[in-house]
Amino acid sequence: MSMPELVPVLSAQQVEEIVVALGQRISSDFGEKGGVAVCVLKGAFVFFADLIRTLTIPVEVDFVGVASYGAQTESSGNIELTKPIESDITGRQVLVVEDIVDTGATARFLLDYLGGFEPARINLCAFLDKRERRNHAVRVDYSGHVVRDGFLVGYGLDWNGCYRNLKGIHRLEQNNP
Ligand code: 5GP
Repeated sequence: MSMPELVPVLSAQQVEEIVVALGQRISSDFGEKGGVAVCVLKGAFVFFADLIRTLTIPVEVDFVGVASYGAQTESSGNIELTKPIESDITGRQVLVVEDIVDTGATARFLLDYLGGFEPARINLCAFLDKRERRNHAVRVDYSGHVVRDGFLVGYGLDWNGCYRNLKGIHRLEQNNP
């Protein structure tokens, strides 16, 4: 098998502009009451670290882990919680931060799980939004960039554990010789 090719989709500068704009919208919507920002491990950790530093409101952070078992480049819909939330989010404003929402299965699972703690408000933020592939009822309240197709890596998103460290977003293209 040949090495995959990386096609640039968003530069580091474009990524930064998107994150700053999201941070402004979230700060203004959540207001001075602030809330709890929940990072969905592992893919969202890079975006999360940048996003929370653009917020101008009081914010507590927490992390949840999910694993989805299935084909390498596609979520199977069989989702398991690998790390539960630790903060008390009952009656609080909660922001769930995802790297990418594709079919919506993972986000739906998490919104149901976190919604069970009865937060005052729960919103979903995703850096990338594969809107056309959605087959679960999920509304991405804060969507950074809409993508149509392809398998994307970089800025926290991986392929076989690689490429999370890239500063921009790239599309992975498998070259068949
Ligand atoms: P969903 O449950 O919405 O179908 O998929 C969400 C998860 O699938 C993401 O958190 C991510 O782990 C994986 N995923 C979906 N599309 C991509 C992609 O283009 N690139 C990478 N690296 N992961 C993806």
